[in-house]
Amino acid sequence: MIAKVIVDVPAKQTDRAFDYLVPESLEDVIKPGVRVIVPFGPRKIQGFVIGFSERSEFTGLKEIIEPMDLTPVLNEELLGLGDWLTEQTLSYKISAFQVMLPAALKAKYEKKIKLRQSMDQLPEQLQFLFEKNDTILWNEAEGYLAQLQKEATKGTVEVLYEVKERVKKKKLKHISAKVSKEELMTQKEQLAANAEKQKAVLDFFIENPKSIEQRELLSILDVPATTIKSLVKKGLLLEEDLEVYRDPYEDRVFEKTKPLTLTAEQEQAISPILATLEENKQKVFLLYGVTGSGKTEIYLQSIQRAIEMGKEAIVLVPEISLTPQMVKRFKGRFGNEVAVLHSGLSSGEKYDEWRKIERKEVKVVVGARSAIFAPFENLGIIIIDEEHETSYKQEDNPRYHARDVAIQRANFHQCPVILGSATPSLETFARAQKGVYEQLNLPKRMNNQALPSVEIIDMREELREGNRSMFSRALIEGLKDRLEKKQQIVLFLNKRGHSSFVMCRDCGYVDNCPNCDISLTYHRFSQQMKCHYCGYESYVPSTCPECNSEHIRYFGTGTQKVEEELGKVLPEARVIRMDVDTTSRKGAHEKLLNDFQDGKADILLGTQMIAKGLDFPNITLVGVLSADTMLHLPDFRSSEKTFQLLTQVSGRAGRHELPGEVIIQTYTPEHYSVELAATQNFDHFFEREMMIRRAHQYPPYYYIALITVSHENVAYVASTTDKITKFVQSKLSREASVLGPVASPISRIKNRYRYQCLIKYKREPNLNQTLKTILEHYQQEMVSKGLQISIDVNPYILM
Ligand code: ADP
Ligand code: ZN
Ligand code: ZN
Repeated sequence: MIAKVIVDVPAKQTDRAFDYLVPESLEDVIKPGVRVIVPFGPRKIQGFVIGFSERSEFTGLKEIIEPMDLTPVLNEELLGLGDWLTEQTLSYKISAFQVMLPAALKAKYEKKIKLRQSMDQLPEQLQFLFEKNDTILWNEAEGYLAQLQKEATKGTVEVLYEVKERVKKKKLKHISAKVSKEELMTQKEQLAANAEKQKAVLDFFIENPKSIEQRELLSILDVPATTIKSLVKKGLLLEEDLEVYRDPYEDRVFEKTKPLTLTAEQEQAISPILATLEENKQKVFLLYGVTGSGKTEIYLQSIQRAIEMGKEAIVLVPEISLTPQMVKRFKGRFGNEVAVLHSGLSSGEKYDEWRKIERKEVKVVVGARSAIFAPFENLGIIIIDEEHETSYKQEDNPRYHARDVAIQRANFHQCPVILGSATPSLETFARAQKGVYEQLNLPKRMNNQALPSVEIIDMREELREGNRSMFSRALIEGLKDRLEKKQQIVLFLNKRGHSSFVMCRDCGYVDNCPNCDISLTYHRFSQQMKCHYCGYESYVPSTCPECNSEHIRYFGTGTQKVEEELGKVLPEARVIRMDVDTTSRKGAHEKLLNDFQDGKADILLGTQMIAKGLDFPNITLVGVLSADTMLHLPDFRSSEKTFQLLTQVSGRAGRHELPGEVIIQTYTPEHYSVELAATQNFDHFFEREMMIRRAHQYPPYYYIALITVSHENVAYVASTTDKITKFVQSKLSREASVLGPVASPISRIKNRYRYQCLIKYKREPNLNQTLKTILEHYQQEMVSKGLQISIDVNPYILM
């Protein structure tokens, strides 16, 4: 028997199946989807078996050395999906297979075989293997693999991959009270009257006797580390290095929820979905409904029907909104039938969740992008919430979009796909308008709650009238008013594409990375300048390197800066700041939100991560500090993204009985994406934006593909990109436009110059082959000269 094996060498020449002989002893074990070790030149490498043949056109075939799995890690559907991915994204087959598997299966691991049932379930000749231990090492089972494989199929034994975590357990400095509460109170009385900071710290520990990470403490109380140090010296506080805990969901009991009685609108929206489910058909729905219109309840009840039919469900949510609140809604309804896959889990934990899916212990998976590859075999429904989110597109090879994969899988399983959004992507909405997708509408919020009123503030006007603060007068008014009424406020800072850079006010010098053409980002915590592309670090300049002026300081507003300013104008306000710094610790995200929900703060200040999913009754004011920071990025989707984000943030206010108000501060109030977000008028925005897309030949009217070439030698990059552009032009019809060669918007990263060629097209049957030819043609130069060519069909990042 001859096995076809895709080997783990991601290169053009090896991007095909190689033939290997299957040793007789392994004939029962080697199946499609099983990984094997094979000889490859002088090396032994991994590969995936994709099929068999009787004969080979090659002679002198080598034998498979050993299997790596007892049961296939990729089933037939996923093997086919791998082929499709390869074709769609122009990636290597091996990369397509690997992206579908949890990282643990790629990492270094120790392989073991574990007995899952009682010993007498095993055939007698195998029992001795497990006599001493119910878990044995893989190589102890040599000679018995074929038999064990049969047992694995029955479920008597299973293979375990014990990941050797390379990440060391993190230890961080924690502070706790060393003496009793009473003692703290006594000591506080004895402090000098002006020792305010020390008093604040003692107050904190009088209320919270538990230990807290020092970094978090400093940011909550806004005191310097020296304050803590002196209290430690006095023997009042204890400083120790503690391990950061691992699993935020561990031992959590989720309160069981019951299906709600659907409203008439919900009934109308869900019935075509249920019908499709029952008819076993593939169909894509756009569930178009404002935030709070009851979409999630529709997801839950559709999934429930799928489960009742003995089927499974995949729910994708953007990583950023994969919050404990979100998880709670699914676990609350389906309990232990839910697996959760998100990036906060270690690779070992992710693998555990994946195994639950593979072993059919769960019926539902809720996860970010890669959960679309969950190895379910009887999928009944796929749901993509916030379908417009760009994080559904993977930016490394294979550059797939989860939406496309979902539709492909639904095709295989003949099941419905629900794309949910209040602000669908233009591509999706256009398809719904044309009837390619079926559109379902939920036009109203639950309880007919009115959408919040939105006011747009022109910050240029504020400046002209002498207000140089980052808060407009209207916003300050609003803040004061809510503090008085004991209502809550969300302040949103749009950080995407907007960093704190250092600039000289006299000569305009900007502190740039020496390797990449991009400004360095100021990091207050470490007092450093960092490049977000290459990792270059340097000190913060105190004088301008160009003109020696001392008026060099950082611009751009970070959340920390806003927090400081708030402290100055509204010292009485209690602020919770949520950004990458305060939420990097596991569970921190949830804790901060819980604190806010419990009313421990008046203002929640944050970035993108607070734009979604929050549903607290006491929020009545949402302030957007700078609406337009994203509008000026070199990206044809920047208006769309701005509109989506503003709409979403606005949706945080007034979701319950109390009416909501939104204040949007901007320097470009006349821009239609700001204006229309204020009225939450998606349909109008869609019309405007579609006109622009048509005029400039962008999606959804045209498809685009982006070729980016990079190398250290700029002339070489330019001439190569020129040749590629000409070649593409010669192969495509006149209907396509091929733009380039031009320097990429970020023209240098890590000292490599970058050029691009952008292709806009409607129908080009030749395109795929043309792009493949380019990769093949330059393969040699990519290896020998370090040339890089990346091709992104349907790119989301054009920089
Ligand atoms: P979306 O997902 O569109 O933002 P949700 O499903 O979260 O909307 O619904 C908003 C709120 O309304 C939630 O608190 C939810 O529990 C509640 N809700 C949804 N459907 C119903 C219903 N049929 N009856 C009562 N309350 C509902
Ligand atoms: Zn200067
Ligand atoms: Zn750099």
